[in-house]
Amino acid sequence: MEPDGKDGALLRGVLRAGESAGQSTEQLRLATQHLASIVEFSDDAIISKNLEGIVTSWNAGAKRLFGYSAAEMIGGPVTRLIPSHKQDEEPGIIARIRSGERIDHYETVRLHKNGKLIDVSLTVSPIKDADNRIIGASKIARDITEKKKTEAELLRRERQLKQAREELLEHARKLEQRVEERTLELRESNHQLETLVYSIAHDLRAPLRSMQAYSQILLDDYVSGLDETARHYARRIIHSAETMDALVLDLLSYGRIARSEMFLEPLALESVWKTALQQYEKDIGDKQARIETVPPLPRVMGNEVTLGQVLANLLGNALKFTVPETAPSVRFRTEERDRLVRIWIEDNGIGIDPEYHDRIFRIFERLQGQAYPGTGIGLSIVRKGIERMGGRSGVESTPGKGSRFWIELPAAGP
Ligand code: ADP
Repeated sequence: MEPDGKDGALLRGVLRAGESAGQSTEQLRLATQHLASIVEFSDDAIISKNLEGIVTSWNAGAKRLFGYSAAEMIGGPVTRLIPSHKQDEEPGIIARIRSGERIDHYETVRLHKNGKLIDVSLTVSPIKDADNRIIGASKIARDITEKKKTEAELLRRERQLKQAREELLEHARKLEQRVEERTLELRESNHQLETLVYSIAHDLRAPLRSMQAYSQILLDDYVSGLDETARHYARRIIHSAETMDALVLDLLSYGRIARSEMFLEPLALESVWKTALQQYEKDIGDKQARIETVPPLPRVMGNEVTLGQVLANLLGNALKFTVPETAPSVRFRTEERDRLVRIWIEDNGIGIDPEYHDRIFRIFERLQGQAYPGTGIGLSIVRKGIERMGGRSGVESTPGKGSRFWIELPAAGP
């Protein structure tokens, strides 16, 4: 019996192909029925049409997806499913099918019977007859409304994210600008403060010297008129005036380093270190200090006077904060890395609790009180001076295990 109906040509083709392969008509009919039921019960819409775009088969999935029954669609134009703004798609699809091409997962929009648009993914393949001629197309349409919704949602979130990122960037930019402005203001007020401290310190020296001088005159020329208590007070005045003068002098050095032009040039570290050692020659001898200078001492970029003062302050502290009854031992060495020279001044002194490693670099910060004399300005000169030469400074230390102070400056090359 010859198959009839919509897909007659296709079935006839299948049967003839099967017959020539030696299969019985009955076997082929069963196989064809089996295939037809797979198509019928598929979740996807499976449609076939001829090359004129007339629908030739329509499964239950197609009814579910598009709302039309097979009776309504078979024999009618497939363009009924195409919304007006997509009508020009069909000629293109037919042309590609005619040339034997298969169209895979083509995402587009189709029209439901109720007039609503549905997002679909189409896979269209040519149908051939027994003579291998293309006689139509089979089309599988899948509802991708949910997928599209998810995609749209993702896109919306992506846009939100992008907007949030842009807002954040704008925020960061404004913040950065504010920080820059504040830094500038702070630098300006810092500079004014430093100028004020410098002029106060400068003006303080004259009355101080008078106090010292008049007290000394009292002790030298009027000693007979003074009892022991009065002489003691006069000596206390001189001592206090001296302490204060040292403080004023240190403040003036700090002010000079903070304010003055900092001319940088390649420096022979060895000679700057030697000058610092000479400054403390007497102290080194008195305390029988052991000084170890470890070569090489590379050239660094810096200001000679400032670096001299920094090294002298660090050496002075290494000789000062010693463990009682122990001769000081100082090691001077360098490390060179990434065009930077790190200079270490290490001692065997009393050491510093890590809690204070940063604080001691601030002005007037002292940890020992009267046990070791000082003004609390030396390390702030170190930090300020190194900072003004474009470097960094720090310390590694544990109480009772000595201190390793370091400063870092750009290398000046050979
Ligand atoms: P000063 O030496 O006048 O006290 P500095 O600013 O040079 O002031 O040092 C600040 C403080 O840091 C010192 O009072 C001391 O407590 C601590 N300090 C500095 N250098 C050393 C060191 N080599 N060993 C132990 N403590 C140190």
